Amino acid sequence: MDTTARPFIFLLSAIQLALFLSAFSLLSADPSLPRPDATLFKKPYIRLGKVAGQLDMKYQLSKDNQEGVLYSRWTRVRFKKDSRLLLLNNYKIYLGYAVALHSGQLYLSTQDYHKTVKPLLTPQVFTGNRKLRTIVIDPGHGGKNPGCINKSLGMLEKDFTLDLAFRLKTLLERRGYRVFLTRESDRTVENQNRAFFANKVKADLFVCLHFNSVQSRSVKGIETYTFTPRNQPSTARSRLIDEDKKLFPPNAHDAWSTLVGFYVQRQLIKTMGWVDRGLKRARFSMMIDLQCPGILVEGGFFSNYEEARRIKTISQRIQLAEAIANGILTYHETLNRITNPN
Ligand SMILES: [Zn+2]
Repeated sequence: MDTTARPFIFLLSAIQLALFLSAFSLLSADPSLPRPDATLFKKPYIRLGKVAGQLDMKYQLSKDNQEGVLYSRWTRVRFKKDSRLLLLNNYKIYLGYAVALHSGQLYLSTQDYHKTVKPLLTPQVFTGNRKLRTIVIDPGHGGKNPGCINKSLGMLEKDFTLDLAFRLKTLLERRGYRVFLTRESDRTVENQNRAFFANKVKADLFVCLHFNSVQSRSVKGIETYTFTPRNQPSTARSRLIDEDKKLFPPNAHDAWSTLVGFYVQRQLIKTMGWVDRGLKRARFSMMIDLQCPGILVEGGFFSNYEEARRIKTISQRIQLAEAIANGILTYHETLNRITNPN
């Protein structure tokens, strides 16, 4: 072979490769995602300062580069280096990936920008079903499955989720919503059938009600979950696994689930004054086939004596139901406002 031709062949193949790669990246790029500023940990990241510009907010980076704040007149969003926790007006929200420090600047993963920050701060940019008429409430557990148990107080989770579901149903019906429960008695319901039921009645929102329990008796507070977006680990993990790469039906509604999840969690913390455990992500089996926005409320810990006693008190459960209903109403007001501005 003529050795002088080799560099030319190499150059040609490099150009072909570049063309191929750019065509591939055009095909795979989500046009609604901003152009990343850096690739960190093999993922696209965007500078927080640029996020501020895109959202028409101001930005301040602390002198030690550890904390970045996006702010406007009514809103403050605080990000911390190496942390997945952001604070939106002091309410906790968990990101998919930790905020990263790179060349003296803080960076947010573009995934978190699109799936968490934008739905909360600029929901009007998202399309999809914006009506809210039919709500399915899913009281956790039932029948053979008691859920968590507090023996000393004689409490079974399945009884309390059903009680809360009926209270919430009454409040929402009073506001004119069409409301269904996935169970109206103490019976066993397969988790998958809960989403199938919501799909069958063409729900616009699915609300799962649960109470929490852990080994440590000092842990307490309220948390709300939405279905984990694609290519993102659930809050309980930090590493991406194969399941994270799959797209599930509820992912078509990620933005709306995030928004309603935030409003409900915020209202619960405002109303109850209990510990804020944040807005989190998980791929719960009852949401895997869900075709509308969905949230799962963990309304306190059976394993914490003080909190379990509160949950056992009727007046506290009335307040829990009112807070969830009011969070849903705020969500509906936002849907109306962004659908019919002015
Ligand atoms: Zn449960």
